Amino acid sequence: MSKPEFWNNKKRYYDLKSFWRNQFGCSVYKLQIDAGFTCPNRDGAISTGGCIYCDGRGSRLRQAGPLPPISEQIRRGKEYYRKNKNAGKFIAYFQTFTNTYGTYQKLKTLYDKALSEEDIIGISVGTRPDCVPDDIIGLFKTYAKQYHTWLEFGLQSIHDKTLRLLNRGHSADAFLDAVSRASGDDLQICTHIIVGLPGETREDILETARVISTLPIHGIKIHLLLALQGTVVGDLYEKGQIRIMEKEEYVYTVCDILEILPPEMVIQRLTADGYRDIFLAPSWAVKKLDVLNAIDRELEKRDTCQGIYYKGKKPDKR
Ligand code: SF4
Repeated sequence: MSKPEFWNNKKRYYDLKSFWRNQFGCSVYKLQIDAGFTCPNRDGAISTGGCIYCDGRGSRLRQAGPLPPISEQIRRGKEYYRKNKNAGKFIAYFQTFTNTYGTYQKLKTLYDKALSEEDIIGISVGTRPDCVPDDIIGLFKTYAKQYHTWLEFGLQSIHDKTLRLLNRGHSADAFLDAVSRASGDDLQICTHIIVGLPGETREDILETARVISTLPIHGIKIHLLLALQGTVVGDLYEKGQIRIMEKEEYVYTVCDILEILPPEMVIQRLTADGYRDIFLAPSWAVKKLDVLNAIDRELEKRDTCQGIYYKGKKPDKR
């Protein structure tokens, strides 16, 4: 198997760390920011229940007390990554809840503030696909002319039946529409999917990957469904009413997905982590490095890499 030279890495997929090193010639890290946003799927605008896997607590910082200003969150993050990771430059990552849920002026003030900080070379903003009106997308496209700018859409599954089951409060069409409006210019689009969702078959999951592979999407985060205390999924798990994936199946499925995705798509995440205090299952997910190593081993065993079945060629039935 030969892999694309432009990855310039030792992996069998195009990881975010390598992508940034190739782009900027130094180590780049995301600084997590909680700007105090809420979510329309929790505050009643769409629903009050939230997605069935979401713990609704927000960042650890929010749980600890009043949120420090953005500049202070950035300062602390930079200090940590400089000390522990030899970081060079940074991306301000608006991560908690729906980070485009506000007026144009409010959002612009927050993003401008983050971008004005020293050594911040861009922003990445996580949101819902039904929460990006045209003026906000226009704002991101303006930033993208000057900064490295990512818009991250939570999708989870391309199947409406699953989105309904998850209580996502939006359809697959809302996602396709958001991607279409955000595409073009230099704006980078990332999407999040979850593997192991209730009611989904392997073919359902691969269909989500196939659709994503046809869209103008630059990056992906692949998560595993976790059962967390205080969530609907957690309750179902404790009652024995939901199946949580085994490690082998997860690793296998992630490799199948990677084979389908375009070689240019940046793999931003391959596992889920955190939430130690409310974590229920699966226990194997706690060892994140083990999971990543198992994915590497499986790709090696298959002698494949990301993109090998991109555009048409279907993976063999296994
Ligand atoms: S959209 Fe995000 S923040 Fe809102 S309920 Fe769903 S997972 Fe939680």
